[in-house]
Amino acid sequence: MSDHQTVVAALFGAPGSVRIPATQALGTVTVAEIAAPLGLPGFDNSAMDGYAVRADEIASATDGSPVRLPVAEDIPAGRTDRLTLQPGTAHRIMTGAPVPVGADAVIPVEVTDGRVDIVTIRSAVPAGRHIRTAGSDIAAGEPAIPAGTRLGAPQIGLLAALGITEVTVAPRLRVVVLSTGSELVTPGTPLQYGQIYESNGPMLTAAATEAGADATHVHFVTDDVGAFRARLDEISDDADLIITSGGVSAGAFEVVKDALAASGEVEFVKVAMQPGMPQGCGRYASPSGRAVPIVTLPGNPVSSLVSFEVFIRTPLRAAMGLPPDRRRVHAHLESDIRSPAGKRQFLRGVLSRSEPDDAEGFAVKPIGPPASHHLRYLARADALIDIAADVDAVSAGTPVDVIML
Ligand code: AMP
Ligand code: MG
Repeated sequence: MSDHQTVVAALFGAPGSVRIPATQALGTVTVAEIAAPLGLPGFDNSAMDGYAVRADEIASATDGSPVRLPVAEDIPAGRTDRLTLQPGTAHRIMTGAPVPVGADAVIPVEVTDGRVDIVTIRSAVPAGRHIRTAGSDIAAGEPAIPAGTRLGAPQIGLLAALGITEVTVAPRLRVVVLSTGSELVTPGTPLQYGQIYESNGPMLTAAATEAGADATHVHFVTDDVGAFRARLDEISDDADLIITSGGVSAGAFEVVKDALAASGEVEFVKVAMQPGMPQGCGRYASPSGRAVPIVTLPGNPVSSLVSFEVFIRTPLRAAMGLPPDRRRVHAHLESDIRSPAGKRQFLRGVLSRSEPDDAEGFAVKPIGPPASHHLRYLARADALIDIAADVDAVSAGTPVDVIML
C-alpha cells in the first residue's frame, strides 16, 4: 500500500504561488511573510466612551470634590478633522474616535455626569489611561502574518484591518471529479430498475473541498471509452488533478482501465488493502499538452472515500502548503474483529473516550460489515480502524491504530 501512496504523492508538485484577493483567500496558505503596511491602531484613539482630558487637570477629582470642565467638542468615531484640547476644557469622545492633541487620558462616562455643556468628573485617572496608542497593536513594517500561515477568519480580519486587498498564497489545486458508470443517475431524477444514484461524485468533491482544494464535479459518463476520453479532453485543461471513480476492477466494461491502460497513461495496480484494492494513477495528456495528474479510484463508495483518505488527501494538501490534518490515535477495540490475511484493512469505527477526562484514552467500536458498499456505516463512522496486513484477528480490548475522520 505504501508503494502506491508514494506513486500518488509523486504526482503532486511543490506548492505554487499566486496573488489573489484577500477576500477569496480563506483556507489558503501564505508563501511569504506579510508585513503591516500601516500601524494599528492608525492613530491614538479612545478605548472608552467618555471625555478626553489632561490627566493633571483632574488629578484631584473625587466623589466628594469633583472637577468641572467645559465640554468644547463632541468627537464621535469617524471624525476626521484634527482637534486640539485647550487647557481647562474637555472633549466628549466615543470609543474608537481620535484623541485630540493635548489630551493624555480618557475619563469613562460612568464616573461623570455625562453632560455635554459642563461635565462633572468624580474620579482621577493616570496619564495614558483608556487611550489606544497608534501602533500599539502592530507598527507599520512589522511582520503581520508569517509565511506558511493558513488564512482563517482572524487572519482575514487582520488583512482587512491593515487595508491589504491582495495576498500571495499557494494556489488551491483545481480538482475535477469524474464518475463513471452506465448505471448512474443524477439525484433528483427518477430511477429505473437497475439504476442507482451517483454518489461518489458529490462525496469525492466534498472530500477534496474539505481538504482545501477548489473541487468541481463534472457530470459522469457512461461506460464508453470514446465518451470517457472525450470528457477527459474537455476537463483536463482546467484541472490540476483529475479523480475518477469506478471502472477499474476486473470485470468487463471497465471504462477507465480500458481507456487509459493500453496507452500507459495510467498504471493500474492491485493494492493489498480492503476496501480499495483496484487503484490506478498517472498523467493524462490534455489537448493543450499538459500532463495532468489523474488518480483512478474504485467505484464502490466506501472504497472510493477510503482510497481518497489513504492516497490523496495528504499529498493534495501538501501541494497547497497545508499540513497533514488527520490525527492518528491508539484506541481500545470494543469488539472482536477479523481481517483478511495479507490485506491492510480499514474498518469503519466510532470513537469514544474510555475515560471522559483522559485526552488519550480512546475506545473504538467497529461498525458495519467490511463490504465496501455500506455507505450508511461510513456516514456514521468518525474513524477508520487501520489493521495491518499480517493481522487476521484482533480481540476486544486490544489497542489498535485509528485515523480520526
Ligand atoms: P465499478 O468499479 O465501476 O465496477 O463499480 C463498483 C460498484 O460501485 C458498483 O456497484 C457501482 O454501481 C458502484 N459505483 C460506481 N461508481 C459509483 C458512483 N459514482 N456512485 C455510486 N456508486 C457507484
Ligand atoms: Mg462501473
